[in-house]
Amino acid sequence: MILVVGGAGYIGSHLVKELVEKEDVVVLDNLSTGHREAVDKRAIFVKGDLGNEEDLQMVFRSYPIKAVMHFAAYSLVGESVIDPLKYYENNVASTLTLLKVMIKFKVKNFIFSSTAATYGIPDVKLIDEESKTAPINPYGQSKLMVEQMLADFSKSYGLNYVVLRYFNAAGAHHSAAIGESHDPETHLIPIILQQLLGTREKISVFGSDYDTEDGTCIRDYIHVTDLAHAHILALEALLSGEKSAETYNLGNGLGYSVKEVIETCERVTGIKANVEMTDRRAGDPARLVASSNKIFTELGWKAERHLEKIIADAWKWHQNQLY
Ligand code: UDP
Repeated sequence: MILVVGGAGYIGSHLVKELVEKEDVVVLDNLSTGHREAVDKRAIFVKGDLGNEEDLQMVFRSYPIKAVMHFAAYSLVGESVIDPLKYYENNVASTLTLLKVMIKFKVKNFIFSSTAATYGIPDVKLIDEESKTAPINPYGQSKLMVEQMLADFSKSYGLNYVVLRYFNAAGAHHSAAIGESHDPETHLIPIILQQLLGTREKISVFGSDYDTEDGTCIRDYIHVTDLAHAHILALEALLSGEKSAETYNLGNGLGYSVKEVIETCERVTGIKANVEMTDRRAGDPARLVASSNKIFTELGWKAERHLEKIIADAWKWHQNQLY
């Protein structure tokens, strides 16, 4: 049985939907930002808190857990600057509690959701796993701290882990049964689609004077279903003993500027966007694009769904958003 912590959240729920096809799954989520409706009915759901040792012990006592996948983190860069305590408490301290209970129950396999924010402002065009890590906000820092704990626990306690550093997760399940639903919404693609649907007045482009071709920031958008598949390959590699301590980037190696994303949304939906140019947002690097060569070479994963497909699936979801 696989324990998915944070399985009611955006990325966790998409992983669960794929994973239940292959494994028995138990989801632990406190529903602080996740949605109960997003959890596939084939998974067992336990409402509980990552930082609560009793909740965790109950799960580990009740189910024969062979691996843990951990998605339960706060992930808003701006909020992490305003309230770093919240980020260190949940993303670091609570994760430490989870790892402690895993060690106690001799559960040795762990997959951790990390982030491009661990790289800070990169000095290379294509970021690979050897690129320097230098987070510029508490969110990125909190993820890097856990990565460090994993490296140490691997050496001392024989914990096997795979760290997956996501770039910009986007899109929705092709069935439109689940998708992205944050409150407040801060991510570019849902914000554009909400504007095109008429539930938001305008789209603010945060900065048009960056050192990029069209002056707007470039990001590497990756379909949430591609992310889910990468987790399953990572899990298989851990369970087979093929991998025991690895870090992989997950992106598609293609950067798109904010302007290109807006244009693609207009093309896919056939609706013209209402756009205004505003000041830069604090802490935004001009360009974040991943090289995912390592996971392609080692596990055979690559992104299959590119920007148009990401937007088409997200659009289907937003038109009929269930939660
Ligand atoms: N962005 C924007 N307007 C918005 C939201 C985002 O111009 O209303 C830009 C943001 O500055 C960044 C890109 O879109 O360059 C992606 O931002 P998002 O918050 O989706 O993801 P991040 O890269 O911060 O994880």
